[in-house]
Parts: sequence; C-alpha cells; structure tokens
Amino acid sequence: METFRTKIPNHFSLPKRINRLGELAYNLWWSWNPDIQRLYSLIDKELWERLEHNPILFLRHVERAELNAVTNNRYYVDQYDSMFREYDSYMNSENSWFDRNYAQMSDQLIAYFSMEFGLHESLPLYAGGLGVLSGDHTKEASDMGLPFVGVGLFYTEGYFTQRITADGWQEASYTRRKFDDLPVILVEDETGGPITVTVQLPGRDVYARIWEVRVGRVPVYLLDTDFEKNANADRSMTSRLYSSDLDLKISQEILLGIGGVRGLRAMGYDPRVWHMNEGHAAFLVLERIRELVTEGISFDEASEKVKLNNVFTTHTPVPAGNDEFAPWLIDKYFSYYWPELKLTREQFIDLAKHTVDWGEAFSMPVLALKLSNGRNAVSDLHGRVTRDMWNFIWPSRRVDNVPIIHITNGIHTGTWLARRLGHVYNSYLGSDWMEHVDDEGMWERVNNIPDEQLWEVRRHLKRKLVAYVRELARKRWLRGGSQPIEVVASGALLDPYALTIGFARRFAPYKRANLILRDQERLFEIINRPDMPVQIIFAGKSHPDHEGGKLLIQDVYRAVKNSESGGRLVFLEEYDMHLARYLTQGVDVWLNTPRRPNEASGTSGQKAALNGALNFSVLDGWWREGYNGKNGWAIGDEVDYTTSALQDEKDAKSLYDTLENDIIPLYYDLRSSDNLPGEWITMMKESIRTLAPQFSMRRMVKEYLLDLYLPAMPVERNQEPVQE
Ligand SMILES: *Cc1c(COP(=O)(O)O)cnc(C)c1O
Repeated sequence: METFRTKIPNHFSLPKRINRLGELAYNLWWSWNPDIQRLYSLIDKELWERLEHNPILFLRHVERAELNAVTNNRYYVDQYDSMFREYDSYMNSENSWFDRNYAQMSDQLIAYFSMEFGLHESLPLYAGGLGVLSGDHTKEASDMGLPFVGVGLFYTEGYFTQRITADGWQEASYTRRKFDDLPVILVEDETGGPITVTVQLPGRDVYARIWEVRVGRVPVYLLDTDFEKNANADRSMTSRLYSSDLDLKISQEILLGIGGVRGLRAMGYDPRVWHMNEGHAAFLVLERIRELVTEGISFDEASEKVKLNNVFTTHTPVPAGNDEFAPWLIDKYFSYYWPELKLTREQFIDLAKHTVDWGEAFSMPVLALKLSNGRNAVSDLHGRVTRDMWNFIWPSRRVDNVPIIHITNGIHTGTWLARRLGHVYNSYLGSDWMEHVDDEGMWERVNNIPDEQLWEVRRHLKRKLVAYVRELARKRWLRGGSQPIEVVASGALLDPYALTIGFARRFAPYKRANLILRDQERLFEIINRPDMPVQIIFAGKSHPDHEGGKLLIQDVYRAVKNSESGGRLVFLEEYDMHLARYLTQGVDVWLNTPRRPNEASGTSGQKAALNGALNFSVLDGWWREGYNGKNGWAIGDEVDYTTSALQDEKDAKSLYDTLENDIIPLYYDLRSSDNLPGEWITMMKESIRTLAPQFSMRRMVKEYLLDLYLPAMPVERNQEPVQE
C-alpha cells in the first residue's frame, strides 16, 4: 500500500482554455508523441528550440500574448482538445496490453534499478546507450501497462557539456540544473514533509530525498542528497554521473542499491520482481537479504529466497569494463554491514569475489549473477561472450550451459520515429500499427508505400538535418570567438543533396571512430567526386577522464579540418538524445565499426533503420542478427582475428571497397524512369520491414516479461498467466 503523495507544482499562469499544458509538462508522455510536442512548439517555435524543448521552462518564459493568440486559433484548440482526449484515454485505460493478457497479475510490481535513465535531452540523467535503453524500457513498460517503477539517482549536473577546441581537444564543463526547471515532483509523506531515506557511509549517515518523474503511467523515483540535512561534502554526492573517484562511485552505488530499496519501502511499495540493469545496482540484493536476516531468518535461507525474484542484465563484454572494487574499499564501506547479514568479512567478500589482473576484486556483476535467478546478456553474440566470461561462477557447467540467456536490445518506437514518417506509417500500416509494432506480418505493408512518397519524406528529413546543423554553425560564427575552420568543421558546407553517412556514439576506443580514416587519401578521393559527393557527420563524447577517447576525437577532428576533406567531414559537439534524433532520422547510411565482439548490442542503428536509413556495420551486437544480405551492408567477415591490428586492416579494406563499389553507385543510380534510386528504396523497404519489428522495444519488453519477470513472480498455482 503506497503511503506518500506527490503534488504537481503549479507555477504557471496560463489561460484557462489551455491550462492543462502545465499538467502535461510534468508527464514525459509528451516526449514520445511528436504531435503533442507541437502543442508547445506551435506557440513559439524559436523559444521552444532555445529552451532545449523543456516545457516547464517554456511555459514559464513564453509571452502571455503568444498564449492568448493560440487560444483564439481554432486549429490549435481543436488539436489541443483531441490531444488531451488521447492523453486521458492513455492514462486511464484499463485495457492495456498487460490488462488484456495478465490482468490477474497487476499487483506484481516490477522494480527496475538503473544508474542512468535517458528519457529526454532536457533531463540530464544519462551518458549514453545504457541510459537510453533504460529510458526506452520504461516508456514501453508504460505503453504496455506493466506494473512497473524505475529507481535511479538524480544528477543536478548530469554527465557533462562537450566543447571541442580548435585543435580538437574535448573540454568538459558542467551546468547545474534547478529542480524547479525540471519535470520532477518531490515525494512527500502524509504531513507534507519530504520522505527521506538514510544510508550509512564511513563515520556518518547520509540522507536522500526522493523525486518522482512521471513517464506516462510509470513513475521513476530518483534519489538526491543535495539538501540541508546533509553535510556540504555529501550534498554533491549525486551531482554528476560516472565519476572516476572510487569513494564517490561506491557511495553512489550504495545509495542506488541500498537507498533505493529503502526508498521504495518508505513509500509503501512491495515489489515482486527486482531488476538490476547493469551491475551498478547490485547492492540491492544485500539490502533485501538484510531485511530478512533482521527478521530472524538465516543468511542462507534469506539469500535463497531473495534470489528467486532478482533479475540481472549485464551489458559489458570486456572484463575490464566491469564495475569492481578493491577489498580495502569494501572494508571501509561495509565493515558495519556484514555483521547485520550475520556474515564474517571473508564470507562477505566471497559473495562477489573475482580474481583480476591486480588481485582479488569485489565484483558487482559477480554479486548480481550469484544472487539472481534471471540473468541475461543483450544480444546473441554477447550472450556467448558473457557465458564464457562468467563460466568460473559455475565451474561444473560447460560454457553453453552457463545460466545466462540473451535478450537483444530494442528501441522505443514513439521516441525515435520522425513525426512525418510516422504519418506515412499511419496511412499505410493502419492507424493502430504501433500497437502491433513487433508483428512482422504487419510490417509487410511497408511495401504498399509508394516509392515517391517514402523518398520525399527521406529527402525532407535530410534537408531538415542539414538546415539544423548549418544553423548551429552560423550561430557559432555569430557568437564570435571561433576560427573559420571551426565553422567549416561544424558543418557549414554540408550539402542537402549529397549521400550522407552518420557516425555518432561514445568515443570508446573499441568503437574505432577512426577506422574510416585509416587511408585518408583514398577516403578524400571517394567523397569528393563531383558527380557522387559523400559527406560524413561524426559526433560523440569521450569520458572526461579517458585520454584514449579524447585522442580519438582529436584524430577525427584533424581529418575534419583537413582542407582536402572539402568540408564533407563534420564533427558535431554535444551528442545527446536531441542530436541523436536528428542524425538517425536524417542521414542515408548509419555507420558502426566496433571491434568485434565488443559491441554488446548497440541501438543507434536500430533507430536509423526505423527511419529508413540503411545500416553499414560490423557483424557484431544487434546487426549480426539483423543483417540478412538485402537490408544493408556488412563490414568485414564473421571471424575472430588473432590480433586487433589485423582485424582493423581487414575491416578498413572491406569498408572502403563496399562504400566505393556498392553503396555510392546504388545511391546515385537514377536509371529508373521516375528519377528515383529504385534499388536503394527497395533496400530501404526491406530494412524497415525486417528490422523495425525485430528490434522494437515492444518485442524486447515482451521477452523480458516472459523469460525473466514472470518466472520471478511468486505466483499461486491457480493463477497461471494466459498468453496472447
Ligand atoms: C541511442 C543512443 C546511444 C546508443 O548508441 P550505440 O552506439 O548504438 O550504442 C548513445 N547515445 C545516445 C545519445 C543515443 O541516443
């Protein structure tokens, strides 16, 4: 029974006729419904862009006259009424997918813990793909009507803002956000005071408040320490995401895992399934055991019991990428805790012991793997790599019997689909196509879309991308302080008609952003043919403490600045969800060049595919499953190389050959009588038809439900679920 309240702050003064815009600003449902976003942007487009599509800031700053104007606009108020009818029916529906299939299980709450939630660019709670996946998962849980709550941390400064200096060096800066400016609502008890949780850190208690973010029907609860009750040093504990300071890191993970469980309890929640998205949240298993041990149950019995409802997803294919702590740090933070579990130090360390190159580590994934019953990796190949990596936990099992399954990642359709293409899908796939987005048969109807119509939308989306990037470049030039070459590097010379390739992701060395630059002479020759120009847009951040990633950005930037590139190579600063939408919707080809098998899944290429861009990637992660020979292109072969130098060389050659011999000629081949690249469009339809259903978040969440959540729910025998 929930015992708390959340009240939407009311700090807007809006005309009565449209005053529900204030309420909607506090439900991120608007963020995946582009027609709803227009209710804001139509009022004052320029202001909406300037304020990073943040409806709260927007409503606070918009001129009263602009608000009055739309209330007198017949078209606007009709739209407003129809959108709010849709919103109310979404929020109050008792006929969701979950209701129709699992109505009797609506009290089986799933609690989903993640260090990051990528919900929208205005909410700085994510760094990259892991966060975007959590955000997409949460939105789909809402769409499907799952009994679901998210748990995370609230970062007032987020990850960081990226600037690239004239010589290509990444500089990081931090902006502090105000709670008042964001769609977060303080969780209060019945008397109106904030509900707080306490965790013990060396020599002191630390307190956290809880904020609710409404994601459609699903609440996400975020803990934050930045308030008076804490000592100054602890108030900044939750300011930033992914610090390299070990004390800060373990403190954040204690707050997420242990504080998160306590927060849910304080609000009166009693989850039946506990899902840890990546190892950061693994301390939650300890807290759940401690709860039972305190009631007098033995450690062994308690751990067997909690294990049944724990689910763990791992995303990290390289041992070095895993979250692990040195024993001295565990002593420092947990010596008070293991007696509460009735364990000795040695028994406690043994729960998560992992022998690594520098000695014995306390490994978060080991802790989560040992104390969960449901475990998964995020693609087929990643599953194999993961079972091999953790085989030592189950020494008597052969590698293929290691109990870790795989569920390949997907993307949330509403969040990533371009508005205008969505309208085309509405016309040709049937108006309720989104309810069947994972149905492969339904997607056959893509073939009914006339080529001209699909091509016209694609051209529109590319023009929109190019116009947007050039406008950014112009603003930069106008602001002053930039050298001309920086304006060129940021896209001033982009051509709205040239074949456009996108490469945007975190700059981790295994992703090999510079693979396409290995033979620059050849590349410059290929992209500068007057009759078949090609342009490549790069974007992405490196972790601020990671020199290797920053050097990689510099390497790319050097090629971008080279006059021989003809301004056809571009690097865009500040890759975030906003830029990701523009790029995945606007480019023709999405490039991904990870060093196989290091890409656990990847999802950006799935966003591109949904929008009609073609993938050109290494057969790793999701693309190894998606590629069928007719829906895009592969780089290299599906083989394991002995050295990475050899792999890089082979992959680069394959990349240039395919680009030059297949991709460019296909795009510029207008032989058909209607002046359209007919074969390209055929490939595009094949790509949409095959990839959109298979890599939808709907397919993914159904698999999580069937393979991991339902088995973890303590169901009575007479409550067997009915399946659709
Ligand atoms: C989708 C997305 C990612 C994931 O990209 P991959 O390279 O496919 O892992 C990262 N960052 C942002 C901002 C995204 O939108």
